[in-house]
Amino acid sequence: MDLYEHQARELFKEHGIVVPRAEVTDSPERAREIARALGGRAVVKAQVKTGGRGKAGGVRLAADPAEAEEAARHILGMDIKGHTVDTVMLAEPCDIERQFYVSYVLDRASGGFLAVASAEGGTEIEEVAARRPEAVARIPVDPATGVHTATAVRIADTAGLPPQTVDTLVRLWGVLVREDALLVEVNPLVRTAEGRIVALDGKVTLDDNARFWQARWGGAKQEAADSLGARAGAKGLNYVKLDGEVGVIGNGAGLVMSTLDVVAGCGARPANFLDIGGGASARVMADGLSVVLSDPGVRSVLVNVFGGITACDAVADGIVRALDEVRLTKPLVVRLDGNNAARGRALLDARAHPLVEQATTMDGAARRAAGLATAASTAGQAGQAGRAGRAGRAG
Ligand code: GDP
Ligand code: MN
Repeated sequence: MDLYEHQARELFKEHGIVVPRAEVTDSPERAREIARALGGRAVVKAQVKTGGRGKAGGVRLAADPAEAEEAARHILGMDIKGHTVDTVMLAEPCDIERQFYVSYVLDRASGGFLAVASAEGGTEIEEVAARRPEAVARIPVDPATGVHTATAVRIADTAGLPPQTVDTLVRLWGVLVREDALLVEVNPLVRTAEGRIVALDGKVTLDDNARFWQARWGGAKQEAADSLGARAGAKGLNYVKLDGEVGVIGNGAGLVMSTLDVVAGCGARPANFLDIGGGASARVMADGLSVVLSDPGVRSVLVNVFGGITACDAVADGIVRALDEVRLTKPLVVRLDGNNAARGRALLDARAHPLVEQATTMDGAARRAAGLATAASTAGQAGQAGRAGRAGRAG
């Protein structure tokens, strides 16, 4: 689970990392008062769980309380990469002399952690990393020993950070370990004109496997952030949201993963995937289909089931039940093979729903689902253009 910047900075503060004075609000009028309390000037920052807020106009420097109110009014309600801004944080502005990038991240490839650091922090860090990878140091950290002064000195040296950052590097590691985080990132970590080292931004991703003792961050709002995921979880289904247009349902992680690859190979992008697991019942299939269909990004759905323990006729029965429970508005391509496949196919044929078709191979099914998704999005665009055109003539 990702934390908001204002939550991340609370953790930093608890671990002795210096952060500017700040306060969160959802009201422009209150923003004016906060700015006044901070001394007049304030940095007004959108609180959304995505980066690049600065570039998107979600970070503004206000010279006085009236400007802070105006900036808050402008930023609240803004959409940043699909995230609506509900709250802003007002922070005491900082006189920046230099900006650094520092993070610790779980490196699944090595089974350890990486310290990633650069003397060229700030909003352009991604461009720096792409154009001059040598400007971003990547130093493996052994999780058993962690980051003590000696390691922190090595990280700072390698990345070209001044020695004053060593203390922050050690403390940031403390945040990662004691808060069960998979990622802690400060960009920018700055040196101020007075020579202080201050964390101006913070990103923390907590390990969901440690959630049972992270109750303090687990409010209702967090759950609502991915309500489909929560709904699927409550039904014991493994659902993952992606960015594409083809909904993918399969049984077993291996088959689902290869189905994602085949869909991508057909030139479409998976919108999500849902693993109904081994031995799935009709009920599970019906629940899974209703979750996937509720994803607004989905333009077609591909059900790919290889029956082993799972019987294909149970899966087909689940699809038929789901068709009675949810109104199908998107095409569904089903490929059933293995245990009781013939009976499963016969059940679907008997239901004869106009939006459901069957394919005999995984490749064929993926190609068809990808084609239907693309056709749906082109038709959608044409429809919008048509409506816009008519509106234009009417006006
Ligand atoms: P991000 O774009 O989502 O990473 O948001 P940041 O919190 O990193 O803010 C974007 C940029 O605004 C930072 O990289 C800084 O350059 C700038 N910024 C943030 N806070 C301050 C501040 O207190 N003073 C000044 N001068 N600039 C700031
Ligand atoms: Mn930042």
